[in-house]
Amino acid sequence: MLKPIPLHNQSSWQDSLSDLITDPLELLQLLGIQPEQIDLSMEVLREFPLRVPRSFVNRMQPCDPHDPLLLQVLPRQKELASYSGFIADPLAEQQFNPKPGLLHKYSGRVLLMPTSSCAIHCRYCFRRHFPYAENRPNKKQWLESLEYILADSSINEIILSGGDPLVISDKHLEWLLEHLTAIPHLQRVRIHTRFPVVIPQRINQNFCSLLSRYQLRFIIVLHTNHAQEIDGDVQAACKMLKDVGIDLFNQSVLLKGINDDAQVLVNLSERLFACGVTPYYLHLLDKVKGSGHFDVDITTAKVIMKKLRALLPGYLVPTLVYEQVGEPNKTPIL
Ligand SMILES: *Cc1c(COP(=O)(O)O)cnc(C)c1O
Ligand code: SF4
Repeated sequence: MLKPIPLHNQSSWQDSLSDLITDPLELLQLLGIQPEQIDLSMEVLREFPLRVPRSFVNRMQPCDPHDPLLLQVLPRQKELASYSGFIADPLAEQQFNPKPGLLHKYSGRVLLMPTSSCAIHCRYCFRRHFPYAENRPNKKQWLESLEYILADSSINEIILSGGDPLVISDKHLEWLLEHLTAIPHLQRVRIHTRFPVVIPQRINQNFCSLLSRYQLRFIIVLHTNHAQEIDGDVQAACKMLKDVGIDLFNQSVLLKGINDDAQVLVNLSERLFACGVTPYYLHLLDKVKGSGHFDVDITTAKVIMKKLRALLPGYLVPTLVYEQVGEPNKTPIL
């Protein structure tokens, strides 16, 4: 008798989200790595816990303690080292936070943070010390943020960020979009998310048909740092989004030991483009406390970019940027 064909993506994204790996020893065991092979730290977990979806772990190379996906999530002793200039709130974001869950820093666009949680915890995250507890708006505060946007007709784009905005349910998202679509000067909604990469099942029929219901233009910016993160499921999720007319971009962070190499970045751009995703930004690390060991200095970054430009067509070269407090935009490095 034939075995039934296992249904791909059978479990829901919510199941994946409630079954994250949070124990570093379990993670290493799954990969066949001995704890002595890497400078694991349990101490840093208290401040910023481990969270990684099993589907993402499946894309890590077994037995490789230097796997570029593993290093993005594994809590290490290196995080305890102090590096000069690396502080808790490097972007001084709290001064651009006029309403809970809303950042208005740049002209024409406002960033909303519908949630503080993420499907994955990236050890380099610049928001690891952000006071999320004070930025988890309730419904009344949401309505205040919406009033703020309504009152400023220069705002034509909403950026949903976080945390990861796709942690919220489609129902909550629908509530938000219903309100946003009623604001006449809004044209675009941009979603910055790691979901299509870390839990690709999040991109399902329900989500796609929800977005396709609105006049608003949707843009999704993926956060991918290495080609190895992109497998067939990720490619399928991107295709679903493209099929409903959503524009896809990617931003990466330049990370020492993970993607600080021209060929690694070439492979990433090529892989992204094969999925219909345009490389957008390559960020220098924000100098957040605990992430100094990932830092790539500007001089090295420029050398990598020079090689990248020589190896790729112009449209596959991301713009190298960093964020400077007080500037009206991200600062490009030429
Ligand atoms: C990065 C960022 C944006 C978007 O900048 P773009 O250059 O349009 O991608 C908007 N608001 C905040 C607070 C940001 O950090
Ligand atoms: S906000 Fe983004 S970079 Fe930070 S932990 Fe969440 S997914 Fe990772």
